[in-house]
Amino acid sequence: MEFNIENIIRPHLLDSKSYTSLRNSYLKKEVVLLDANENPFGSYNRYPDAEHLQLKRKLAEINEVQPEQLFLGNGSDELIDLAMRMFCEPTQDAILVFNPSFVMYEISAKLNNLDVEKLQLNSDFQLEKEVFQDVISKTKAKILFLCSPNNPTGNSIDDLEFYIQSFAGIVIVDEAYIEFSKEVSAVSLLAKYPNLIVLKTLSKAYGMAGLRIGVGFASPEIAVLFNQFKPPYNISSESQKLALKQLENLEELQKNISIILKERDHLKVGLEKLSSVNKIFPSDANFFLIEFKNAETAYQKLLEENILTSLRHPALKNCLRITVGTAEENSKLLNVLSKIPS
Ligand code: PMP
Repeated sequence: MEFNIENIIRPHLLDSKSYTSLRNSYLKKEVVLLDANENPFGSYNRYPDAEHLQLKRKLAEINEVQPEQLFLGNGSDELIDLAMRMFCEPTQDAILVFNPSFVMYEISAKLNNLDVEKLQLNSDFQLEKEVFQDVISKTKAKILFLCSPNNPTGNSIDDLEFYIQSFAGIVIVDEAYIEFSKEVSAVSLLAKYPNLIVLKTLSKAYGMAGLRIGVGFASPEIAVLFNQFKPPYNISSESQKLALKQLENLEELQKNISIILKERDHLKVGLEKLSSVNKIFPSDANFFLIEFKNAETAYQKLLEENILTSLRHPALKNCLRITVGTAEENSKLLNVLSKIPS
């Protein structure tokens, strides 16, 4: 059956009116703003641009798509949740995710009272086609989340396009870590697959986690829905302004990515020498998933030295997820880990 967004969106949303603002049409005029119950005094008295026009234009240019294909969230976390609320009926529908994968999908699904179906990854954390075929032959999922590079495993998923084209509902490729990877972005597949949504974020490679900006890409038909149903002023004026300023300096951002990638290689060499480490999983992201002889001991030892790492994924026994930091931070980490007896 041909993909039609009207068959996917929750039916009661079809005739909704959007929360509109005329402001962008009056931007260049001498204008009296009595439309939004703002306070006429103060430096932050005006609401931010609800349409994120300048920021979307810049991000469209960087990603070589049209601004009409973009929608921005207060972090991509907001867009993950919004997608579930737009496409999935609470208590009836489900989402489909890798096991293991980013925990927010399950948290948002729970909040929205949706079932979570799982695609078990193999020991290399790849998806096997037979597992996929078997699950989708009986799935009731409306959204498939393909997280690549995958958090918390760190690897990119092979043959992503096969999964995109084999799923009839909405496919969300979560590319939070794509800039650290050797793969090309699925944004290049948007023209081919009308059911595809790609999520990126300014939190990781762009180094702006504090600004909370998630970036969604899709067909204009899908993008218009996200823009319609997102909370109107979801990204503050300061965040929009500061992000734009940082994006003017892509060279600097690229330089930082190169440093992180070099540090990733160094850190790997250091970790390989440790007797407390069993296995370092290949990383296409800015973190490593590491299997320890005893992850709890490693976690506690690091904590005693005020080094925080992540021990939280229930599907991964004896593993820590550790972010690549600065050279200094990484050597501190290695130093503490080297003192753990094997
Ligand atoms: N997707 C993945 C895979 C992530 O790891 C994260 C952050 N940890 C996010 C989305 C959310 O990113 P943000 O809300 O900061 O844009």
